[in-house]
This record gives sequence, C-alpha cells and structure tokens, in this order.
Amino acid sequence: MVESIEQSSVDSDESTDVRLYLPDAEGWHARVKRGWEKLYCFYKLPGQDYYHLLMGGEIYLQRSEEVVCLTCALRHGIVTTDRLNWQRHGRKSGASANEG
Ligand SMILES: [Zn+2]
Repeated sequence: MVESIEQSSVDSDESTDVRLYLPDAEGWHARVKRGWEKLYCFYKLPGQDYYHLLMGGEIYLQRSEEVVCLTCALRHGIVTTDRLNWQRHGRKSGASANEG
C-alpha cells in the first residue's frame, strides 16, 4: 500500500519563506553567478579579513560595481525578508504631491 506523504510543511509559512525584498530597489539587479571568472562579494563576512568568493550558480545582487551576496545583503539591510517592509519604510518623498 502506497500512501502519498505530500502534506509535509505547507503550514509553516514563516520558516519556509525565503523571499527577499529590496526596500530601496533603485539601481539594484539580481544576478546569477555564471562562468569561471572569479567574482568577490563587496563586503567581508564577520571574522574574515578577506573578500569571499561567489560560487557558480549563486544568486547575488549588483549595483554598478557593487557585488553583494545575499548573506551580506541581508546583514547590511540591503534586502529584507520582511514582506511588509514598505509599510515600515515609509513613503519616499515626492511620490505623490497632493497629500494632506
Ligand atoms: Zn558576501
């Protein structure tokens, strides 16, 4: 007898939510590391005094020359897992003129 065990962890949304958000998305691009040329993260990890290498297939962010892995982007607050960040972040100036 074969039973399907598909309802594994659909409920626990909080822990499985790996979506990332850029509160200030201006100028940033999401990229995938491809090829063999070496690419280093713009930031250093805590306890390391060297720039760490991005792995092939790794998803990273780039803004002009600034290359940031997702770990560092999270640490530096470039990205957030907070889906409602735009509410906390407040409105940027000049979006809509006629208010209040
Ligand atoms: Zn990094």
